[in-house]
Amino acid sequence: MCQSAVKPNGTTDPQNEFGNVLENYKRIIYNVENAKAKYRSADDNVSIMAVTKTVAPEKINFAISQGITLLGENRVQEYLSKKDQYDKTAQVHMIGRLQTNKVKYIINEVAMIQSVDSIKLAKEINRLAVKNDRVMDVLLEINIGDEASKSGVAAEGLDELIYEAAQLENVRIKGLMAIPPVGCGEDMFDKMHSIFLRVKEMAVPGVSMETLSMGMSGDYELAIKHGSNLVRIGTALFGARNYLEG
Ligand SMILES: *Cc1c(COP(=O)(O)O)cnc(C)c1O
Repeated sequence: MCQSAVKPNGTTDPQNEFGNVLENYKRIIYNVENAKAKYRSADDNVSIMAVTKTVAPEKINFAISQGITLLGENRVQEYLSKKDQYDKTAQVHMIGRLQTNKVKYIINEVAMIQSVDSIKLAKEINRLAVKNDRVMDVLLEINIGDEASKSGVAAEGLDELIYEAAQLENVRIKGLMAIPPVGCGEDMFDKMHSIFLRVKEMAVPGVSMETLSMGMSGDYELAIKHGSNLVRIGTALFGARNYLEG
């Protein structure tokens, strides 16, 4: 049903301490603008998030110095070990699977949690947000491809989660997030966009559908075509990940 994935086009120049981050970033901006011009409106805002897993803090800070303002973190442990070295001008969002017992480590560190996929997790975020006297913005993650290996709430379970989580006073639902199966982009993005618009129409009190977070290195232009306004880019910005570092 799905074609094979487009190969992400981030490159690494061994002569350059920071790989080709600047060149890669310029190309991503160009492609995003191009996709907006082609499929959307030039006025539409599409945020580019730099996904930092396995990337050294110096390289992340270089990306920030070139204009990146949003970082995406996958792993709590890795983030905690690196965060003190980050340039604090960029906002940080948690985008990886989050266990309820780890929320306490990030409740005062991140501006948003994009990977909320159960009422249990939402309640723990709320409990700690109350305790820390803050409000946490969240996105609800949908397992749009119904993949056993992936996190996210099933599309059929979304409404129940929305109505329950909307009751939590210190959690604010700001939109939806998805990681569609590789190579399945177009159909899945379209499906996500429909769900996003449907939830927007539901107009649940306290729920604002502002952010549709989808699209990664290999498919962000297609995601933009289908309504994404936050693309999460790792490889195409920083080059191939070296898991030995991570
Ligand atoms: C790793 C990751 C990305 C970025 O993936 P690339 O293909 O390297 O751009 C985006 N979102 C999530 C949730 C990820 O874990």
